[in-house]
Amino acid sequence: MRIYKFGGASVKDAEGVRNLARVLQATGTDKTFLVVSAMGKMTNAMEAVVDAYFDEKDAVTAALESVEAFHLEILRELFPSESHPVYLKLKALFNEVRGFLAWNKSPKYAFVYDQVVGYGELLSTLIISEYLNQEGIANSLLDIRRYIKTDANYRDVSVDWKKTQEAISGLAGSRELYVTQGFLGSDENNFTTTLGREGSDYTAAIIAYCLNAESVTIWKDVPGVLNADPRYFKETRLLNRISYREAIELAFYGATVIHPKTLQPLQRKEIPLHVKSFIKPSDPGTQVGKGMAIEPRTPCFILKKDQVLMKLSSLDFSFIVEDNISEIFKLLHDYKMKVDLIQNSAISFSVCFDNRFGRLPELLQHLKGKYRVKHQEGVSLYTIRHFDTRAIESILNGGDVLLEQRGKETVQYVIKS
Ligand code: ASP
Repeated sequence: MRIYKFGGASVKDAEGVRNLARVLQATGTDKTFLVVSAMGKMTNAMEAVVDAYFDEKDAVTAALESVEAFHLEILRELFPSESHPVYLKLKALFNEVRGFLAWNKSPKYAFVYDQVVGYGELLSTLIISEYLNQEGIANSLLDIRRYIKTDANYRDVSVDWKKTQEAISGLAGSRELYVTQGFLGSDENNFTTTLGREGSDYTAAIIAYCLNAESVTIWKDVPGVLNADPRYFKETRLLNRISYREAIELAFYGATVIHPKTLQPLQRKEIPLHVKSFIKPSDPGTQVGKGMAIEPRTPCFILKKDQVLMKLSSLDFSFIVEDNISEIFKLLHDYKMKVDLIQNSAISFSVCFDNRFGRLPELLQHLKGKYRVKHQEGVSLYTIRHFDTRAIESILNGGDVLLEQRGKETVQYVIKS
């Protein structure tokens, strides 16, 4: 089986859906599993519904209506006859969400989030499956929640691989074209769960793993995996081939193309991953596979903006050793800081991190009793893999380097931006 994943950007409007059908017509539909995200920015829009439900109940109706209007506009373009059954099915899904919000008694944000936000995917797959059928591309719409089983740690679940494997393997050997939702699963009580933002790639990998798929293709609005994010870097190059290991390293340093969680199941079964352009589906894109040397061998740049650099030193000139470091790490963990880089010397410890949940003031407060603390917010962390002098020069370019860390393949700079 081949697993195809189409993200929100690829189906952000009616033309995106038509294009998806064209990609399938060009590449064939035999033994293909289509995993689709919510359309465009609909996950954010559904998150706004949940936020309204908790913070401003009066705003829920309007927030849901705007999601409905967005989908209805796409329906009208794709299905000119309003008597097409898709209209009623769409309505039924909205009635379900409204019903849930009306009857729900749970005060738990994460639980409500998972029950509501996943409708983005349920809506997109309904529309896509119906459209493909209308275009003569026969397919079956699967509810992935029946197959991907998870724990009940809402918004950040772990997959129950055994149950998932059992459920999905029933689909093996089929020649049908399946259309299903990314991002979703269900717990023991059959409540909807979500795999974390950007989780649809992971869905594709889970299905691939359980079906021993021949490949996974992630269709994107870029030509493949690039050596730098075109939003921040002028000259970018397409990487034709990279290893799983390289892809995991790039993701670790902050490249957002492929999530490491997605790579792990693929790597374990050595299932090739293709990242291709849905605009030019016949272009080769990037292939990720076992032991593939990076080609072309070119420096890869990763930029993480808006980081915090914090330097701690002991108040009494004593060494910063294991017990201090473990205490510091525990605090970083407790305040949910995402650590990007550390460096220590005898009496100081520097750490660059992402203040994701805005809890920096609490952390500083906590540390100040024990250490001399200096910190700088809004710094940028540049990582260059496979660096050379030219690549380094292009980054430094007169910037104020606050910290440097160099390994054999990777160099990192914290720069005051
Ligand atoms: N729709 C979800 C999100 O936007 C999952 C995904 O697209 O990967 O995060």
